[in-house]
Amino acid sequence: MTPDVVALLQDLIRCPSVTPHEGGALDLLEKILAQNGFICHRLKFSDTDTPDVDNLYARWGKGAPHICFAGHTDVVPVGDEKGWSFAPFGGEIRHGEICGRGTADMKGAIAAFVVAALSAISQQPQGSISFLITGDEEGPAINGTKKVLEWMEQHGEIPDFCLVGEPTSREALGDMMKIGRRGTLSGWLTVNGVQGHVAYPHLADNPVPKLLKLLTALDSLVLDHGTAHFDPSNLEIVNIDIGNSATNVIPAEARAVFNVRFNDTYTGAALEQKIRATLDSCASPYALSIRVGGESFYTSPGKWSDLVSKSVEKATGKTPEASTTGGTSDARFIRRLCPVIEFGLVGKTIHKTDERVALDDLARLVKAYQEILKSFFA
Ligand SMILES: [Zn+2]
Repeated sequence: MTPDVVALLQDLIRCPSVTPHEGGALDLLEKILAQNGFICHRLKFSDTDTPDVDNLYARWGKGAPHICFAGHTDVVPVGDEKGWSFAPFGGEIRHGEICGRGTADMKGAIAAFVVAALSAISQQPQGSISFLITGDEEGPAINGTKKVLEWMEQHGEIPDFCLVGEPTSREALGDMMKIGRRGTLSGWLTVNGVQGHVAYPHLADNPVPKLLKLLTALDSLVLDHGTAHFDPSNLEIVNIDIGNSATNVIPAEARAVFNVRFNDTYTGAALEQKIRATLDSCASPYALSIRVGGESFYTSPGKWSDLVSKSVEKATGKTPEASTTGGTSDARFIRRLCPVIEFGLVGKTIHKTDERVALDDLARLVKAYQEILKSFFA
């Protein structure tokens, strides 16, 4: 029996699944999918430095073609609940909207795809539908999609195409899909000096001007001018930390943090090389640790973007712009396995107080996902 999308979304919202807590959301999905013939695997992963995370992989059918829907049931914290005009985990409906944390990002899309998938399998299509649902997208993303994908590879679960249900629509449902995302790299820069009295600078070594010189070099770096499908790569200095509360002390150490969002001109490793070469050219000692949070991904326009675009158009009347803007998503990991495109609800209220979704959008998202499945199996 196909559940009602609104009731299912309400049930999901009522699971307080703030990362890394499962909150009952995966249990709920597993139950519905298992009842409808999906083979379900709960995949719990742990790591020494990060909390354990629960994930769900569920597949209906055995053969090809295989379409995978990827998403996350975890949500960001609500912040100060007093700032909300409804209970964040209440799933209340008012003024034609369904309200609560995670409605747009992205329990709404999960509920819509469940309903679309169950109506598709009632037609007994030739092929498979799977769900890759993680509980660690909003958190460190270490024990989530990345590890589920490793498990899928080991078990020969390689989809032909993956649709990620992130809220990609900008102003109105259907106006945008993502065919790529920039990569992300963070750097922690430290300059050491010698502490001393400001009145006796010859007895000290001030790390602050040295750090400023290094940061100026980074800030003036032109990484590229953008590519056919991406904006230029961009480096932002996000923190300078000297932690010195005295006016008469030269500090011993100065630190800064920066983040780069990079396009397909670079791999994370090539970008790191470029950054180190730039800092080396300042001839000033430094220590730098780098973490590549994700490589860029890009699915060339063609078969898959056409399929999504035409389906979205049928359901919403809009031709989605094929964009590569915005932050990273788990598509950055999935790209290794198969072509991936993201399409979902309007992202205007995500991570904010009063997150909510129009009921009408939810209904049309079900329709868009149904159209995608219909043409995928045609
Ligand atoms: Zn999300």
